[in-house]
Amino acid sequence: MTTKQPTFLSYPGEMAGIMRKKDWTNSPLGPPAKWPLSLQTALGIILHSKFPMFIWWGPELRCFYNDAYRPSLGKDGKHPSILGEPAAEAWAEIWPIIYPLIKQVLDGGEATWSEDQLVPIYRNASIEDVYWTFSYSRLNNDEGDPFGILVTCVETTEKVLGLRELKETNNLLQFATEAADLGTWDYDPLTGTFMGNARLKSWFGLGPEHETDLGLAISSIAAKDRQRVIESIEAALDYDRQLPYDLEYTIVHPVTGVETIVLVKGRPFFDENRKAYRFSGTMEDITEKSRTRQLMAESEQNLSNLVEQAPVAMCVLKGPQHIVAIANERMIRLWGKPKKQVMHRPIFDGLPDARGQGLEDLLDKVYATGTRFTAQERPVELLRDGAMETVYQNFVYEPLRDSKGEIEGVIAVTIDVTEQVMARLQLEEAEERARLATEAANLGTFDFNIIGATAITSPRFLEIFDADASTPHAELVNRIHPEDRPIRERAHKEALQTGRLFYEARIIHHGGAISWVRIEGRVIVDKAGTPVRIVGTALDFTEHRELEQKREEMIAIASHELRNPMTSLRLALDLLSVLLEPRDQRLLLEKAQEQVRRLIAMTTELLNVSKITAGELDLKPEIVNLHRVIEDSIATAHAGTRSNLFSITGASDINIRADRFRIEQVLVNLLSNAVKYSPRDSEVIIDVSLNSTDIKVCVTDKGIGIEPDKTAMVFKKFTRVDATRGIEGYGLGLYISEQIMRAHGGQIGVESEKGIGSTFWFTLPR
Ligand code: ADP
Repeated sequence: MTTKQPTFLSYPGEMAGIMRKKDWTNSPLGPPAKWPLSLQTALGIILHSKFPMFIWWGPELRCFYNDAYRPSLGKDGKHPSILGEPAAEAWAEIWPIIYPLIKQVLDGGEATWSEDQLVPIYRNASIEDVYWTFSYSRLNNDEGDPFGILVTCVETTEKVLGLRELKETNNLLQFATEAADLGTWDYDPLTGTFMGNARLKSWFGLGPEHETDLGLAISSIAAKDRQRVIESIEAALDYDRQLPYDLEYTIVHPVTGVETIVLVKGRPFFDENRKAYRFSGTMEDITEKSRTRQLMAESEQNLSNLVEQAPVAMCVLKGPQHIVAIANERMIRLWGKPKKQVMHRPIFDGLPDARGQGLEDLLDKVYATGTRFTAQERPVELLRDGAMETVYQNFVYEPLRDSKGEIEGVIAVTIDVTEQVMARLQLEEAEERARLATEAANLGTFDFNIIGATAITSPRFLEIFDADASTPHAELVNRIHPEDRPIRERAHKEALQTGRLFYEARIIHHGGAISWVRIEGRVIVDKAGTPVRIVGTALDFTEHRELEQKREEMIAIASHELRNPMTSLRLALDLLSVLLEPRDQRLLLEKAQEQVRRLIAMTTELLNVSKITAGELDLKPEIVNLHRVIEDSIATAHAGTRSNLFSITGASDINIRADRFRIEQVLVNLLSNAVKYSPRDSEVIIDVSLNSTDIKVCVTDKGIGIEPDKTAMVFKKFTRVDATRGIEGYGLGLYISEQIMRAHGGQIGVESEKGIGSTFWFTLPR
């Protein structure tokens, strides 16, 4: 018997080659040439086929497979060792799965069909899950008996896993859709049908039916948005435009009226004719989001309003760059820059002149730490009108937080206190100057608290009062000579009326020495106008006073000693004038008489003053007719060369109790002043009036008048107003008049207007 090589062994391909080379001598199958024809035929078929195939042959089901099947065995697995081996050994790991099927077929059953079945096999050095779609069909031997199995199979692992993955992706997508509260929709532009998931339908109030008409869905869109949506759909489906479909609108539920604000995104698909055949996408419920957004916008607006209307300079700086987001007019003015230059850019870009003064650090710190920063009267250099200017500011940097509490910026509130600071500095300067002046004049100062009757005093003040810091205020008062204490009390009472404190008093020192102090002060009132403090100075004028006393004594002596010889001289002159005849000698004599008259008048005044100073102004009161006194005074005043027009008005026939001579002296003084200080022939009015307590006499002239700030001083000794220089006088008349009126328990005063005239008046108690 010739052994002829079967034809299948000469086929090209890997498996044919392996089978050719394999030494079959030890195999129970024997050499291939001896194999049954039916097996040879079957092998011929599978080795030719490009479809994965496998054969189990004989009682031991020995294994054969083709090139197409080979990849399913992987690397480092069964290939090529299972070739010709019994199936039970080659496929030990799956034997329990496949054997029943094999047996069923061999026992005369139908060919099997298994789809996507998991049959894990050993390959690639491990047991792998492999999916198969396979069929087992019977192979008969040459005798026509079932003798083997033909396995036709496809590995479907990839397909199965792919499907599974797809399913998972779908699940994930659905999950995402659920989680994001997304609605999904699908529109068929060709049929006009519209589909959506349940959630989406619930927003539109659409029924559960699978499809609806797009028009129905659109009718649920809020009227204000409807047209816009329709236009957007058209624009998206227009192949030439293909505008992105991404918009927000409001849906109104047709039954419940519930409004849902949605964000819709979609994508069209076009066919080869550029016609959209599908348009699908998602729809997100952004009602909450958009409300929050609106609330945030509102709160932003509120903040902006607050800043705009704030009565102080205010701005909001956002982000780590401190970008000026909001700034009110006051702030812009404070910065001194055009609004355009500073808004919506980092603050130090718009305001470069404020750089390098430590403000950057402050802002950075507030932004980083969230701790507010407050500054008082901080000087900031800013460029104003081309020059650097120091601006003093009180400011607060307050962190601004968003709804989650994160710092989003800094609110700056600034108050320009430059004026106050300047004023204070000036005040401090003025105080310093006053202090220097006080020290130079050796003045003591005090600040007396009226309510608490306590005082803050300077060391010099205490020295003047021969006291020290521990001396209580009451004790200080006791240092004043008992006789002078009423003067102090009266002065304090008057100060509450006039706002000014003035008195002079004696201080008794510990050793019994006496010194003179002059107290001057000003009353400070509170907002309600109630006097609360008196601040002022104390001057020790003992030396000055002693000198004055000596001078007064001198004057007293001189005037007294001068009067007698002068009176005799006048008498002698009077006599002479009667006797002297030649007219020119007589004129000379009259001149001498006039000089003597003036000398006497002067010495009389001086004598009056010294009497007053010595407290020797004795009054001899009697009941007199005021009219008579006035008329006599006019006559005396008229005795001069001028002729003025005197008229008496007001109450007549009034009797007063007074020292007739002294009152006449006062009146004569007032009348002659009225004449002296007014134009020739101008009018002088003497008016008498009464009230329940006083009689008042006013002498009004139309003369030169007195400047307002000089009126108080005309009553002082030897005081004359500048303008009256060149007019005869010594500045004593009004001083004496005031002393006389005081002695009568009355008062004297003046109202005057420069260039218009004056009214001098006095009162007498009724
Ligand atoms: P004398 O008139 O001698 O200077 P008085 O004491 O009488 O002294 O007056 C003081 C000063 O008051 C005067 O020097 C004058 O400046 C001013 N004076 C007084 N009476 C008048 C008046 N009727 N009009 C303007 N100034 C007056």
